[in-house]
Amino acid sequence: MNVTEIFGTNVFNDEVMKNSLPKEVYRSLRRTIDAGEPLDSGIASAVANAMKDWAISKGATHYTHWFQPLTNLTAEKHDSFIEPSGDRVIMQLTGKSLIVGEPDASSFPSGGSRATSNARGYTAWDPTSPAFVKEGTLYIPTVFVSYTGETLDKKAPLLKSMTALDTQAKRLLKLFGIECKKVSTTVGPEQEYFLIDEDVYLKRKDLILTGRTLFGAPPSRGQELEDHYFGVLKTRISEFMCDLDETLWRMGIFAKTKHNEVAPAQHELAPVFTTTNVAVDHNQLTMELMKKVAQKHHLVCLLHEKPFEGVNGSGKHNNWSLSTDDGLNLLDPGENPEKNPRFMLILACVIAAVDRYQGIFRASVASAGNDHRLGANEAPPAIISIYLGDQLGALVDSIVLGREYVPKKAIPGSIGVPESPIFPIDTTDRNRTSPFAFTGNKFEFRMLGSQASVADPNIVLNTIVAELFAEAVDTLSKAKDFDAACAQLTEKLLKDHYRIIFNFNGYGPDWEPEAERRGLINNKTTADAALEYFKQDAIDVFVRQGVYTQKEVIARANIQLENYNKTINIEALTMIEMAKQDIYPAVNRYITKLCNAVTAKRAVSETIACEADVKLLEQLSGMNDAMMAAVSKLEKDLVEMPEGEAAAAGKMAHVIVPDMEAVRSIADGMEKICAAEDWPYPTYSEILYSVK
Ligand code: ADP
Ligand code: MG
Repeated sequence: MNVTEIFGTNVFNDEVMKNSLPKEVYRSLRRTIDAGEPLDSGIASAVANAMKDWAISKGATHYTHWFQPLTNLTAEKHDSFIEPSGDRVIMQLTGKSLIVGEPDASSFPSGGSRATSNARGYTAWDPTSPAFVKEGTLYIPTVFVSYTGETLDKKAPLLKSMTALDTQAKRLLKLFGIECKKVSTTVGPEQEYFLIDEDVYLKRKDLILTGRTLFGAPPSRGQELEDHYFGVLKTRISEFMCDLDETLWRMGIFAKTKHNEVAPAQHELAPVFTTTNVAVDHNQLTMELMKKVAQKHHLVCLLHEKPFEGVNGSGKHNNWSLSTDDGLNLLDPGENPEKNPRFMLILACVIAAVDRYQGIFRASVASAGNDHRLGANEAPPAIISIYLGDQLGALVDSIVLGREYVPKKAIPGSIGVPESPIFPIDTTDRNRTSPFAFTGNKFEFRMLGSQASVADPNIVLNTIVAELFAEAVDTLSKAKDFDAACAQLTEKLLKDHYRIIFNFNGYGPDWEPEAERRGLINNKTTADAALEYFKQDAIDVFVRQGVYTQKEVIARANIQLENYNKTINIEALTMIEMAKQDIYPAVNRYITKLCNAVTAKRAVSETIACEADVKLLEQLSGMNDAMMAAVSKLEKDLVEMPEGEAAAAGKMAHVIVPDMEAVRSIADGMEKICAAEDWPYPTYSEILYSVK
């Protein structure tokens, strides 16, 4: 495989545009993509035509407006290029069909922002993310809005949040004498996933219906040997990864790093970062293609945050930074951050934004699946905090506490092997326990769940940082002595928001009480976290930055709660079905076998004790009864749901989830003592070690 030759061959990228568009059209389109100028609708026909010809040369017969409704998935409806012409057809894509589409919006979530009868929705071309060909169809990335202009997707608010940040960052940079065309946020999302054998998967109703196991006793061999992380790739896995890399490269996705993760059967893929909008689209495509490529290898890719209890879950790390079109990374501290007031102010703004809006920042990654991770031992806790590392930590401490700052230089390191080279050691070490860690010239947000769209946290992050930039501009543009005012504002922001900085172990037992003393928010479930969106200051920041209207914020929070409620409802119903239809009868069958064994043994001799049989059948019989009682409680609680998404979510989190845990713990106990041949599902060991 010649990577440089295949890379991006399925993408209508800059090179293709340059070669296929008239010069003026190309220039105009670039101005829209690079500097955010409004699209000149006059060029649409020319672009559409070039796109169509290129797509046909790649084997496409159809085109689709590809969008991201509020489901975490993408949506597409395919139309062929054909236009009747006498007895024959011609292939056509008009400028209008490129720019707008009109899918029926009534079946997509709108959170009550639109009546079902009012079904009209429009998709509008997003020229900032390149079109591509996949499986015989030209995919045109689009935003999705209702007839009345409300956004119905994740891309429109993401683009608005990027514009807000661009606008405010440019105003701020201007005060420092820096003029640029555009400030973009960049994102590199690292994606974790599990791969299991398809045959095993098909025997687990829970995996098929909910994406995670609802039952399953811990395997005798878990991840304690720590031998899977970065371990040698099994042949089948490595073949899958090669196939996936090739598929992604053809789609112009910068797949870079791949390795085994901590848990057995768990893996990770990281791309090279790119502009946020494209990174989000690429991540959606990556998730979709991971599943499809896995199928080709008779594997199943599990993207759920917690497919297996007691085994590490999967997340995403959202590496985030800001840079100008001239390539200046605004989060690069340089050699001497203490002498870089621009960097220090920007850093202070990010810290202040994350502290002030920690509630919605946390809520942006809340979901039923992610609730199993945040706060458990493998992922950062549900509390937002910031890790700055030694160098910046000491610098911020010195400003806040009035201490002297002794600059820590990147020292040349050596690994102690004479032949090995000397290399500079980073000034920030790793802190894998921090939810929001500064890592050299970017922040890494580690709370994201593996299956969610990365759009949500970036919408919030861009919006809140834009807000702080806007406030800084207001303060500084009035100042007589700019340098003094800048230093003063930086100091004030750092002092006011110092509580959010935590440079120690976020997994340790001391952090939760300490965070509470500091007044930090600790919303452990989606039911609690999503309520933060309804607070007025949260709504206001979105409205002020032009990202959402009040109605849209509320609609989205309701959809988040509705998704949560539906997910748990499906899980509960699946659990009830599995317990009643499979587990209860299976255990009874084994009990009957034990009874038969006792009868058979006693027929040989009345004096055979049958102690183990009797003990086991009594134990299993009691547990099976107890499980059915727990199932009845779950069923009863499930039918008595309060009105309203928020109230229902509260009951889901605080009643239904514990009910489900009760059913599960009894069933898992039975699994451990039931005969293997009678247990109705593959065990954790069989699933986790299913790929040979
Ligand atoms: P580290 O080893 O410190 O985690 P890497 O360079 O391996 O850093 O990057 C990890 C992820 O962060 C990759 O996906 C990478 O593309 C991304 N990344 C690096 N620089 C930036 C940046 N300026 N903005 C956004 N993401 C970035
Ligand atoms: Mg990382």
